[in-house]
Amino acid sequence: MERSNEEQIEISLGFRRKLAEKGWLTIAWPKEYGGKEHSNMEQAIFDERTSYYRAPGWGIATGIAGPTILHFGTEKNKKDWIPRIASAEIDMWLGYSEPNAGSDLSSIQTMAGKDGDDYIINGQKTWSTMAHTADYAWLIARTDPSGHRHKSISLFVVDNKTPGVTIRPLVNITGVHSFNEVFFDNVRVPKENMIGEKNMGFYYLMTALDFERLFVGIGGFRRVFEQFLTYIEQTERDNVPLKNNPNVRRKMAEIAIKIEVAYMFFWRTAEMLDKGQIPSVESSELKLVTTELSRNMADITMEILGPYGQLVPDSKRAPFRGLSPRGYLDCISATIGAGTSEIQRNIIAARGLGLPAK
Ligand SMILES: Cc1cc2nc3c(=O)[nH]c(=O)nc-3n(C[C@H](O)[C@H](O)[C@H](O)COP(=O)(O)OP(=O)(O)OC[C@H]3O[C@@H](n4cnc5c(N)ncnc54)[C@H](O)[C@@H]3O)c2cc1C
Repeated sequence: MERSNEEQIEISLGFRRKLAEKGWLTIAWPKEYGGKEHSNMEQAIFDERTSYYRAPGWGIATGIAGPTILHFGTEKNKKDWIPRIASAEIDMWLGYSEPNAGSDLSSIQTMAGKDGDDYIINGQKTWSTMAHTADYAWLIARTDPSGHRHKSISLFVVDNKTPGVTIRPLVNITGVHSFNEVFFDNVRVPKENMIGEKNMGFYYLMTALDFERLFVGIGGFRRVFEQFLTYIEQTERDNVPLKNNPNVRRKMAEIAIKIEVAYMFFWRTAEMLDKGQIPSVESSELKLVTTELSRNMADITMEILGPYGQLVPDSKRAPFRGLSPRGYLDCISATIGAGTSEIQRNIIAARGLGLPAK
């Protein structure tokens, strides 16, 4: 049964609240912050299984904002936000990209000027995924217009309901409303909503992006592959079983290897977290390998399905309930969000190999 976007969001929220009640949203967090104090490997196993079964789990607040606050936040930040995040009372959206700043976030133009005990925020964000369903913006804004480009940005949590916040939908290529553009017009934010220290936000952001790149939905790759393998085993083309086609067998073997490699990258990041290290180059490698794999899988699926791959959900001959065309279009965005593949390669070359950044 196809559910509307709104129904799916409602189900997902209810499911996440149930997970939170058991402490399963934040398995590796300390008990005092609503976690279960298990290992990051156990968290990774949980994420692998939830993504395999396409169950809701990871969220921006639990996966990105929470860990960043636990690392860099003041005690007041932790007290204000961590319990509300761990209980799934609130979720957030990422206010990074702007019409003139995406890959280079140090060039953002959204300003946050001090006014007594508050900051006044003015500017525009774009490609703001699920800003219309989340409660708070996890937002970067410039707090020192004359400062160094990396030392003049601060990180804020901003309530979507604050006067002056306007959220407008951007519908994507598959007809789904997940993106938004968000305008900040004299938005007053208490100074306590700044995370960590003033003008240090760019450095916190780099770590927040490292956390974001860990959430690749690793189990989904195995699930899709298994389903496709079953299809190949059961389908004939021109009276010849697909599984007898050497080209099909070779392509499936290639994908199987790439999935195994992606899993190894994934487990490695969990292992690093358990050693107290934050994966950085390793997060970029994981993100690059998995998002390019999703495009690779979509290409091969389309090639093997042939014209059937273009059939949409209402068609009775459509394989996989007609979801292939949407998946094919959707996976392109994965290599752009959270930093494009080019940017991941730059990070690996510069931070990983010590080559010049430019
Ligand atoms: C599915 C999805 C979800 C997203 N969700 C959010 C969100 O919730 N919040 C948010 O703030 N943003 C979000 N984004 C925006 C995303 O982070 C940006 O689109 C991305 O960082 C690229 O920025 P840009 O679009 O401005 O492209 P640009 O930075 O203008 O880049 C254009 C092209 O130039 C290349 N390029 C740029 N600089 C370099 C360089 N130094 N070296 C080599 N190549 C370079 C890029 O790789 C790209 O191909 C999302 C995007 C997608 C696709």
